[in-house]
Amino acid sequence: MSYKPVIGLEVHVELKTKSKMFCGCSTDYFGKKPNTHVCPTCFGLPGALPTPNKIAIEWCIKIGLSLNCDIPLFSKFDRKNYFYPDLPKGYQISQYDLPFAHNGFVKLKTDENKTIRIRRVHMEEDTGKLIHGIVNGKKASLIDFNRSGVPLVEIVTEPDFESAEQVNEYLQKLQQIIRYLEVSDADMEKGQMRLEPNISLKKSHPEQREEYRDSSSVIRRPQNDIPTYKVEVKNINSFRFVEKAIHYETERQRKILEGGKTPVQETRGWDEKRQITFSQRIKEQEMDYRYFPEADIPPFRWTKSQISRLRSQIPEMPDKKLKRFNDDYSMSGYYSEILTRERKMAEFFEETVKIGKKYNINAKKIANTIINKKIDANSILPAALVQSIIKQSKKTVVDEEELKNIALEVFRKNPKAVDDYKKGKNQVIGFIIGMMKREIKKPVENNQLKEVIENLLKIQ
Ligand code: ADP
Ligand code: MG
Ligand code: ZN
Repeated sequence: MSYKPVIGLEVHVELKTKSKMFCGCSTDYFGKKPNTHVCPTCFGLPGALPTPNKIAIEWCIKIGLSLNCDIPLFSKFDRKNYFYPDLPKGYQISQYDLPFAHNGFVKLKTDENKTIRIRRVHMEEDTGKLIHGIVNGKKASLIDFNRSGVPLVEIVTEPDFESAEQVNEYLQKLQQIIRYLEVSDADMEKGQMRLEPNISLKKSHPEQREEYRDSSSVIRRPQNDIPTYKVEVKNINSFRFVEKAIHYETERQRKILEGGKTPVQETRGWDEKRQITFSQRIKEQEMDYRYFPEADIPPFRWTKSQISRLRSQIPEMPDKKLKRFNDDYSMSGYYSEILTRERKMAEFFEETVKIGKKYNINAKKIANTIINKKIDANSILPAALVQSIIKQSKKTVVDEEELKNIALEVFRKNPKAVDDYKKGKNQVIGFIIGMMKREIKKPVENNQLKEVIENLLKIQ
């Protein structure tokens, strides 16, 4: 019997709004002194009331729209109750049954026609951070509330992934979309994007129809397709670790299944040092969060025009941009892919093309220069890049034939240098280039001369 992974993902993204989700404290907490970005609301003090951050909610909806979600016109916040020191209120404000966005999808490229369904995109607040250390020679746990209340968007997929590679492609794409929207830097090292794969294995029946489209083109799967258990690996902060955790879990669960047992439903962690997952919490201890509506924040009723206004503010997304680059600039997919990886680079390229046009420099030349010379869009202005391309092309106006003749003349006058070169003294090429330059008297690229010399000496 062979088995096939079934994977669903939960991803948390911290938004880069100026202020927190429910108070006016700054979100710029990373690397700052503990408990300096806090107020009674962050501390969950009695009587402190939450004031929702409008921008954060709009950004959450924009993420949903970019992932092809529906935006329900009625939505609300709920309280997720649990007791832990990093959560001073005793509950986290989150969304339960009426998230801001749901029922979206993302299409993957490498596995053609593979679609990952997005179950929901909801808004919540981040928790504080526990720091375990030594104080006055004793073990102690300290709490930093700077992160408490930072806007957090959670993006949950259906269990549609079949491999670590698909998961990786989805994550790259999700990160790219979030960065295009400029709602988060999605920097994994700073904890701005946190990943939780849910993994199980199903028996693979080669003859079974995997998935199909119903009459309205919605992707469906046979009902009993999903295993009755799942293992969730919590809070991973690197795409590579997710891949490794999935591979590890697949093997671990396969062995259990091959032994005739079913893996226990549990929450595990990833131990990067030992390259294994380890059990954190099993099903019987799974928490009941006793969700109920957040009474301090009235529900939201959107009008269709509010949602279409948000939709109109969304910039061109990577997929569309990539396709347009292929069409408009007749470039190879590879070039377009590199140039659209980051929005900043794509915009830099297009701006340079616009200016280049005035000087008859085509888009391909510009794409070539940017990619081959690894141009950093943050360190040069488009106009300056155009000027440097013009300067480069002026240098290479010397005719090939003319160069060959000059080279042959230099060879004739310097037989020893030619001899040395043929014996393997490659460095004499510098001398020959120098002699040629004396004759040419125009600015010319060393590389061009080098090529001419090498070609001639190869034939001789
Ligand atoms: P919970 O109620 O424990 O949060 P959900 O059904 O809401 O569980 O699913 C949480 C995540 O787990 C989703 O991303 C979902 O796609 C995924 N998931 C659900 N069932 C499975 C399964 N059998 N194998 C892998 N992932 C699963
Ligand atoms: Mg979960
Ligand atoms: Zn605050």
